[in-house]
Amino acid sequence: MMKTILITGATAGIGEACASKFGVEGHRLVLTGRRQDRLNTMVENLSSKGVDAYAFCFDITKKEEVDVAVKEIFHTVGTVDVLINNAGLAVGLELLHEGVVDDWERMIDTNIKGLLYMTRAIAPKMVEVQEGHIINVSSIAGKDVYRFGNVYCATKHAVDALSKAMRVDMIQDNIKVTNIAPGMVETEFSLVRFKGDAARADKVYQQFAPLLAEDIADAIVYVTNTPKHVCINDLVITPTAQANPFYTV
Ligand code: NAP
Repeated sequence: MMKTILITGATAGIGEACASKFGVEGHRLVLTGRRQDRLNTMVENLSSKGVDAYAFCFDITKKEEVDVAVKEIFHTVGTVDVLINNAGLAVGLELLHEGVVDDWERMIDTNIKGLLYMTRAIAPKMVEVQEGHIINVSSIAGKDVYRFGNVYCATKHAVDALSKAMRVDMIQDNIKVTNIAPGMVETEFSLVRFKGDAARADKVYQQFAPLLAEDIADAIVYVTNTPKHVCINDLVITPTAQANPFYTV
């Protein structure tokens, strides 16, 4: 069945991979992110393949921008069947007592508050129609805390908790909530974490074979396609060589 799927952070990595996979399945796509040029190129490519795709460029950390964009999204596509709260980031890798407060604020504003703004704007319509699916991209950093990970881990623990909270709060309204907790995935994630230092970012992915964005997108497509009475609550997905944030081969 064709669904309308909104992906935050569709301009790179996991979100971009989700867009291409859902496009192949013939769903209607609402792609969001802050980079307009990338969104335009994606919509052009998808449209040329017959996919009904729309781009909305906004910053999820700005509540007013979220509200204006979501109003426009509803006007354009009606309801959203699946909300993929994927946009997120890690910035910096310092000990807590040496941490950069601006980095903390970016992570808290994006990973927690941005996810909340999006959900607060989209979910009421799901509740109104008594159907919907919210997929939150958390992390194994939302399950365990690794050295130097402090605030990023805290934000992803918050996402884990919010996934549980959304499920209990909206279960009576037939809303599915899925928490996805990936281990290491090769995307622009490390480039962002290391503030554009490509050499340092590349090194991260040379230790062992990381997941690809497509691996997580496959799982997201799978959970989205389960029958109406099935909700996959939580998925932890790591590279085969990564047992958890502390132990890899
Ligand atoms: P990525 O390649 O850096 O993609 C991140 C996406 O988030 C980009 O499309 C970016 O788009 C968007 N984004 C960031 N800040 C935003 C904002 N303020 N407003 C709107 N969009 C924003 O990283 P990724 O690995 O695909 O990350 C996706 C999710 O997976 C994140 O939540 C991340 O924490 C999680 N995750 C990643 C890994 C990993 O190892 N890669 C592991 C576990 C969990 P714009 O820059 O265009 O706004």
